[in-house]
Amino acid sequence: MLVFSGPSGAGKGTICRAVRQGDPSLRLSVSATTRLPRKGEVDGVDYFFLKEKEFREMIANGQFLEWAEVYGNYYGTPVDFVRQELEQGRDVILEIDIQGALQVKKKFPEAVLIFIAPPSKTELITRLFARGTDSAGEVQKRINCTAAELKLADRYDYIIVNDDLDRALNKVQAIITAEKSRPRFFNTYYSRFES
Ligand code: ADP
Ligand code: 5GP
Repeated sequence: MLVFSGPSGAGKGTICRAVRQGDPSLRLSVSATTRLPRKGEVDGVDYFFLKEKEFREMIANGQFLEWAEVYGNYYGTPVDFVRQELEQGRDVILEIDIQGALQVKKKFPEAVLIFIAPPSKTELITRLFARGTDSAGEVQKRINCTAAELKLADRYDYIIVNDDLDRALNKVQAIITAEKSRPRFFNTYYSRFES
């Protein structure tokens, strides 16, 4: 499991999309949220857009691997999809906030946590406005959280400063390659040399 977090606008979505383009076998978990859809967002593709009551029912039914309140809305990772993909031996990407990532790490210590950091506050603000998906008030709310979010970056396995996109992507690729070389992925390999 690869878990990406970082301040809003740092480039998590952009990086996850590019990584998946390079390796379509990576499965992206679609989160549930009580946030309203942005223009162009599709239910079931970008998020499962739920009413607060529906979200609370999913919490009560134990249907989330993790969930958290982020920037005034609820977000959660449906557990069934992740469990099913991992059981099939596939790699799963989660793009979730820090509270959620730390919950995942507790349940799955082998999950790899990658923190995507912006090169500067000015650049972060520029990117949030350039993206054009959030109102000025929403952008402000997100920027106000940045300093607190960055303070938790040292809980992650890796930090990538997303200055140049290609450079950041190369680093993610290097992390995946290194993590895939861990001994736990070689359990079946040794049996080829038996008898
Ligand atoms: P997040 O998912 O972390 O909120 P996005 O992936 O939506 O952030 O990126 C925010 C904006 O910044 C988008 O408009 C995206 O195209 C742009 N962006 C992402 N990475 C870079 C980069 N390395 N350099 C310049 N712009 C970038
Ligand atoms: P956005 O509203 O910009 O799509 O997402 C806001 C924040 O919520 C981002 O930090 C994003 O990573 C986080 N987020 C998205 N899905 C989930 C989820 O399932 N769980 C948690 N904990 N955070 C999520």
